[in-house]
Amino acid sequence: MLVLFCLPLVAAGWGLAGGFSGGDAAVATPAEGVFYGSLASSSVGGLTLLDPLAALQVAAASRDLAPVLAVGVLPVLVAYGLVRGRAFCGWVCPVNLLGEAADWLRLRLGIEVRERAVPRHAKLGVAVAVVALAALVGVPVFETFNPVGAVNRGLLFGAFAGAWTLVAVLLCDLFWSRRAWCRALCPMGGLYEALGRAGQVNVAIDHGACVQCDRCKAVCLADPAILEPALAGEDVIVRAGDCLACGACVDACPADALRFRLGRPRRPAVPVGQPAAPCPAAVPAPPDAGRPSAAAPGSTD
Ligand code: SF4
Ligand code: SF4
Repeated sequence: MLVLFCLPLVAAGWGLAGGFSGGDAAVATPAEGVFYGSLASSSVGGLTLLDPLAALQVAAASRDLAPVLAVGVLPVLVAYGLVRGRAFCGWVCPVNLLGEAADWLRLRLGIEVRERAVPRHAKLGVAVAVVALAALVGVPVFETFNPVGAVNRGLLFGAFAGAWTLVAVLLCDLFWSRRAWCRALCPMGGLYEALGRAGQVNVAIDHGACVQCDRCKAVCLADPAILEPALAGEDVIVRAGDCLACGACVDACPADALRFRLGRPRRPAVPVGQPAAPCPAAVPAPPDAGRPSAAAPGSTD
């Protein structure tokens, strides 16, 4: 996704990070292409796409829901709403990439951190708070230090003043709590979590195949707790809006008990499958997981 957002500039003869390549003859306007923009605002074939949270803050700050905001936000909400809200976090957001780097580094350095320091639903409240703050002070405050915006501005325009937010996220992930920002604090994740409650791309479980090894919980990027209803036989899919549809659990399952499925079946009134007793032959979670296999108590949806 990062390459995709950089391509229009490069293809038009511009350099990255505010650089400039080629002579005057090579200069073209990236906006003349079919696709250009950043993760906050882009244009695809003339269709404007806006980051919904940034647009909400601007609308709240200016007390004006300009049509362009509504038009630019709607396709994004519909697309992520249909797929899965936090697919943005799993597949598009560059901060998730930073989280993966932090996971790798923490493992190499042998640093132990808490699995959960802040309740994961806190990000819903943070999303409401940043919009309310924008309305209160008349400025979309969060956008001044949004780590996603910091990546955009640095990569595309060479404005690295916001890089401290990325360093802060990295340090929190490394020394405080695993993926604290993405799991519990990011307001963009909060908004997409709310959308994720309607998504049609879901991880489904085959209860008969599951051997209760908990490898899926060990690798889950969102929170191990979101898998618990499915593993306990209380649900047939991972229903929580937190799920990033990252597929890490599907890849990690040694019994092929997990797969993506389309549709959102109702939660069964009675448990649909009796979880099997832990299989004595089940291979223990790989040491490189470096993560606890059991979730701390917490809500699961
Ligand atoms: S590991 Fe599975 S349950 Fe966890 S966020 Fe990724 S897809 Fe969702
Ligand atoms: S990784 Fe697969 S077999 Fe192991 S607990 Fe999860 S779903 Fe069951």
